[in-house]
Amino acid sequence: MTGTITRRSARFRGDAVIDFTDDDLPAPAAGEVRLRVDVCALCGSDKRLLASGSPVVPGHEIAGTVVATGEGAQLPTGTRCIVYIPVFCGGCDQCRRGRTNRCLQLRELIGWQRDGGFADVVDVPERCALPVPDDIPQDVAVLGLDTVGTAAHGLRLALRTQDEQPRRLLVVGCGPLGLGVVAVARALGIESVDAFDPHPGRLALAGRLGAGTRVDLDPENQYDVTVEVSGAAPARDAAQRVVVPGGAVLALGESNEPYTMPATPRWRRTDCFTVRSFYFPLAEVEGNWDLLRRCGPDLRDVLAHPLTLPELARAFDRFVAGDLLKPYIVSGASA
Ligand SMILES: [Zn+2]
Ligand SMILES: [Zn+2]
Repeated sequence: MTGTITRRSARFRGDAVIDFTDDDLPAPAAGEVRLRVDVCALCGSDKRLLASGSPVVPGHEIAGTVVATGEGAQLPTGTRCIVYIPVFCGGCDQCRRGRTNRCLQLRELIGWQRDGGFADVVDVPERCALPVPDDIPQDVAVLGLDTVGTAAHGLRLALRTQDEQPRRLLVVGCGPLGLGVVAVARALGIESVDAFDPHPGRLALAGRLGAGTRVDLDPENQYDVTVEVSGAAPARDAAQRVVVPGGAVLALGESNEPYTMPATPRWRRTDCFTVRSFYFPLAEVEGNWDLLRRCGPDLRDVLAHPLTLPELARAFDRFVAGDLLKPYIVSGASA
């Protein structure tokens, strides 16, 4: 037995063109596991690859099941996993302390520099395959990555800047990550969580997850922690304006614009933390399963829209149009 299989995968050709290829995949490399992709969720950041094209198979929010292993890999066939995308070295000073998202030798992200999950199977280093507890279904587990994992890590960093548990927290921008921040902030026991989004439908979803909904953010000095999740300049301005002195602005939003600090008297005369975070360390995964048990099913119900791999182009059209919040590409078996 050679272990070679035919893999069907999506290819992004640039200018929003997606096509599919069937190619031979040899047996998994030493130290790697082969997963059948059960769910690969679309992420806002995939839109960049859709426009630019990608030399590798995109897709980086993956839940899958082990179907084969390379030499030395131990995970039993049938193990359900989520995929940790930073291919960390495991040996540097940061990795040794469990801070794998800060790996000093980070070379690749799965779905960005090596093949990801818009395919029927994906091979990943075994250390990036995180087994899912039996009581958490795949469509909830996948939210443990960019949605809950990233939100929880950013919030944990921001909370560390504060002398006491913040009483009031604001989330600016209610896309999937912003809604994840709402859900996690509530699961972490923050008393009052508000949300703002210019899109009434998205704001209403934040309300469904238990946030107070705000339609204007004019007055200064309102929140202990503000979380900016849109990347838009007006949202960043608002997050800086409404934070109280001594508070923290958590900057999770991505955009191509530089994130600036205002040159105003108010900003010159205030104490403020600005916190930026990337993904989450393996050391936090255990705690994230607990958060997912509490808030994952509600988040999935608010966010997820299952579609199949042949529908990927349509999924992106509807995602880009804002019609679907978080399309899930699910395998035929679990559809
Ligand atoms: Zn993502
Ligand atoms: Zn490392």
